[in-house]
Amino acid sequence: MLGLNTAAEAFPPPPPPPNARPPITGPRTRLKGYWVGRQPVSPSLKIVVMAGHADSQGMNGAGTPGAAVDLRGAAPMDPRMRDELYWNRRIRDAVAVMSQQRDLNVTTYDPGALSIANADDPRTNWSVARRRSQKGDYILEIHFDAYSPHGYGSGLIPALNRSLNTVDENLAISFGRFPRLFRGGLGGPRRGISILEIGMLEGKLETNLRNPKTREATIQAIALRITNALELGVGRKEKKPSNPPPGEVDSAPPTSNPQANSEVE
Ligand SMILES: [Zn+2]
Repeated sequence: MLGLNTAAEAFPPPPPPPNARPPITGPRTRLKGYWVGRQPVSPSLKIVVMAGHADSQGMNGAGTPGAAVDLRGAAPMDPRMRDELYWNRRIRDAVAVMSQQRDLNVTTYDPGALSIANADDPRTNWSVARRRSQKGDYILEIHFDAYSPHGYGSGLIPALNRSLNTVDENLAISFGRFPRLFRGGLGGPRRGISILEIGMLEGKLETNLRNPKTREATIQAIALRITNALELGVGRKEKKPSNPPPGEVDSAPPTSNPQANSEVE
């Protein structure tokens, strides 16, 4: 129905990752990619985290409402937006906080309006991604996939306008790997966006997000997985969480970046 190229299925699937546990994010993409991200990046690579569909509410491409709303009539988390955007924003912001605590060069971008009709408006995710990607920044856009049978599962759909790098690779190791030319090449990846599908918005994942008792832990667990992948991707070792010794709390260098600040939420 989507005109998907199934040639990749002729190849054997890659072996499961070591220590594979059933992830809280559900199955990985059933369409598999076989690309490898080899290009090294700087440990201070600028990473811009965006929420998918942040500027496309009330129009085509608004994102998935999720199974709870669409199939079971639950109230949306926020009536102004599809549930996918609500969770995309929560994950985006959690990743930013956690990554900055580890001194990764991560900022967020938000278009500041929920509906921007013209994709070429300078405020849209796409416009900012095209601009920042040309400067060499890494653009990561958070998504949740549609519920079954429409969705594919978790995984990375990498940018199409540059060589694939070690950040792409580590996100794919952690979440799964979509074909590089998924759906013939999406608009976001053509503009430099690597799309991270966290998982299909249904089942246990959606239940754990919606339940106020498990919500925060679920968001934090997903953000931790992303942050670990980013840290490995820029060539830094995964650090074990620890309390800094007294006196070192304020020793981190200030992260001043006037250029990026105009695009920080
Ligand atoms: Zn999406």
